[in-house]
Amino acid sequence: MTGPRIPIESGMDDSWREEAACNDMGPEYFYADKDSPEYEFAKIVCGSCAVRAECLDFALVTREKFGIWGGYDERERGRMIRRRQVSAL
Ligand code: SF4
Repeated sequence: MTGPRIPIESGMDDSWREEAACNDMGPEYFYADKDSPEYEFAKIVCGSCAVRAECLDFALVTREKFGIWGGYDERERGRMIRRRQVSAL
C-alpha cells in the first residue's frame, strides 16, 4: 500500500498503490499505537486518499493482520470481516 511498506506477493492487482496518498510517508504512521498522534494523522491522510476503497479491499482480501489500511486498523477490519461472515449465513 504505501511506498515504505513491504511489498506483498499476493498476486493481486496493486497498481492503485501508485495513487496512494501515503506514498511519501513512513510506516511508523500506519503501525502506530492507537492513542498516538501518528495513528490519528494516518487516519486523516486515509480520509482524503483517492484509492481508499481499493486499499481497504486489498487488506480485507489478503487478511492483513496489522496496520491501518483504507483508514481502518486491524481491529476495525476484523469487525468488518466478522459482520460479513455473519451476514453471509
Ligand atoms: S487509504 Fe490510507 S493506507 Fe491506504 S493507500 Fe490511501 S493513504 Fe495509504
